[in-house]
Amino acid sequence: MKFAERLKEERRYPLRAENVEILQVNLGYRCNMSCKHCHVQAGPARREMMDMKTVETVLNVLRRSNIATLDITGGAPELNPHFQYLVTKSKEIGRHIIIRSNLTIFFEDGMEDMPEFYRENEVEVIASLPYYLKDNVDRVRGRGTFHKSMNAIKKLNVLGYGRRDGLTLNLVYNPQGAFLPPEQCSIERDYRKELKEKYGVDFDKLYTFANMPIGRFSEFLRRSGNFEKYMDTLIDAFNPSTLDGIMCRHLISVGWNGKLYDCDFNQVAGIGLSDGNTENIADFDFERLAVREIAADDHCFGCTAGQGST
Ligand code: SF4
Repeated sequence: MKFAERLKEERRYPLRAENVEILQVNLGYRCNMSCKHCHVQAGPARREMMDMKTVETVLNVLRRSNIATLDITGGAPELNPHFQYLVTKSKEIGRHIIIRSNLTIFFEDGMEDMPEFYRENEVEVIASLPYYLKDNVDRVRGRGTFHKSMNAIKKLNVLGYGRRDGLTLNLVYNPQGAFLPPEQCSIERDYRKELKEKYGVDFDKLYTFANMPIGRFSEFLRRSGNFEKYMDTLIDAFNPSTLDGIMCRHLISVGWNGKLYDCDFNQVAGIGLSDGNTENIADFDFERLAVREIAADDHCFGCTAGQGST
């Protein structure tokens, strides 16, 4: 079953954007870690990095549009030399800023003051913590990651993150295999209890995202002979009520080189915007992009399975 066929059955084809409320910017694929579930296959050896000219173009788009939120991702976006400039300028323009942080970056050389920088600019932090138990996290993200993550959350908590209005710290759960995430409320309850009792840390919300069948996870599925089975699981769990909330209908994704995509996943899959739309942020046309047709493909079943993933 193809995603497009499923949309046709639901009379929702073609899928269209509703607006551009969020500009999601990928600052590059360099990262201090190489997690197994990383859909952009980031790591220390990656060299792709957004340059200053493109960063300025991003800021110009924010200045001349009413896009409310800048969502900064990577790799570890903090490793881009223009990261702090982009955050402070976007704050001056009055935009809400989200940083997708891996938390362990705080312990790299020169990054020690990052939590304070986040607080000064009141950025919302969304941090990956695939599970609340050490062994599960270290297996996916590398040895020592869980303890570093706990120490990072403690630092953020001391500054008010996860404890005070306006300093939001959200965590992200990912399944550690070829299965769907459990029901969001029940696993959030388990995270909250376990992390508070054992480590004394707090957070605001837990997001549960299904693993997308692309990038490093797709390679794992193919190597283990589970690709078809996982796709069938996603297809069987298709939930039409998720179609209104999927992120591509509300955001646009900017690659490290300025190319535009419907989402981060399409960026990794190399699927650009549908025909007739601008290809690069330098030609950003808000009116057209806000109603564009989404270039959906079969990995989109990952966004529409069960309770939805975006
Ligand atoms: S993967 Fe597909 S459904 Fe999900 S956000 Fe991207 S384009 Fe939309």
